[in-house]
Amino acid sequence: MTLMSCPDCQGKLSDKAFACPHCGFPMVQQKGRSAWPGVIGGVAGTYISSQALIAMVLGSVMFIAFAAIMIAAIMR
Ligand SMILES: [Zn+2]
Repeated sequence: MTLMSCPDCQGKLSDKAFACPHCGFPMVQQKGRSAWPGVIGGVAGTYISSQALIAMVLGSVMFIAFAAIMIAAIMR
């Protein structure tokens, strides 16, 4: 892993990072891959706090667990 500078904010980031952790600048286009993961990562990193992300993940896990319990109850 190599550290490189963000072309947008000059912050240090890993060359494997999808987006700059400082400003959310998507880094993926430069490697020739699809831009979408970088854009989503950048948008998520910029506009969604890690707490909101954890709440969203926990919420979907709880929903899936609840659905599984309901299906199991119906099938019995
Ligand atoms: Zn940056």
